[in-house]
Parts: sequence; C-alpha cells; structure tokens
Amino acid sequence: MMPDAWLGIGTYRAGPRAPNVSCVMATPGGYLRAFDNDIDGALQLVVHDLVATRAFESSDASRVVWEWAERCAPGRAGGEVALWVIDHVQDEFHEAGRYRWPACPSHPNHCLWMRPALEPTARWTCDIDGEAVADLGALMYVEPVY
Ligand SMILES: [Zn+2]
Repeated sequence: MMPDAWLGIGTYRAGPRAPNVSCVMATPGGYLRAFDNDIDGALQLVVHDLVATRAFESSDASRVVWEWAERCAPGRAGGEVALWVIDHVQDEFHEAGRYRWPACPSHPNHCLWMRPALEPTARWTCDIDGEAVADLGALMYVEPVY
C-alpha cells in the first residue's frame, strides 16, 4: 500500500465555520437542494474540497470533476451529480492507494465519507464516531500539528 504522506496531506476541518462542529451540525438539512438546478454550482463544491485539501491543483480538480460529471446519467439534481462524482473520485483515489482523502480530523489514518450516501443532507462524516465534520464544499486545509 502506498502511503499518502508524499502528498503532504495534513488534516482537515470544516471551514469557515469550523472547528465548531455544532455550528456545522446546525445547518439545515438538505443543503444540497439549493443546487437542484445548478450542476455547475454543485460541482464547484467538489472542486473546492479537492483544492482546499490539496488533493489537486485547481485546474486538475475541475478537469477530473467534469470528466466524471459527464459520465453521470443526465437529468439528475446538481447535488446528486456532485455526490456521484465524489463517490467515483474517492473510488479512484482508493484504487491508487490514496485511502485518506479527505482525512478525518479525528482519525487521520482514514477518510471521511459523504453520509448518508447520495442524499441532499449528506455531509463529510467519520464512519468511526459518526461525527459530521463538514458540508460538501466546506473543507479547509489545516497544517499538521505534529
Ligand atoms: Zn474518523
């Protein structure tokens, strides 16, 4: 397994509201509904998180996200497309041995998942403690503290 330390990955928290997770939790459910008719806007959330967490440079993030989006079945809501793209980007990372994108701020050896999967309420969530860390598009890079 290839460690992803070479990526220079630190850890991530929600931004700009973080690290106060209770604020993140207080955002209304179904926040991705705002992007029902705005696929561009929804995909920008994905690009934001990829760039903010330093997974990709901005131009590469846009290219990857749009390449996946074009393979998604037409007629889907923007948020659904964004979550579908995230799902595939994470699959691709895992196939490449990058198991920690985006790294969980509490357990940096594993990644966060968008849960509940493909739902407009989905948030970056830790599978171990169930903590909802951030909305899609709200990840922020934090320098490693160790
Ligand atoms: Zn975790």
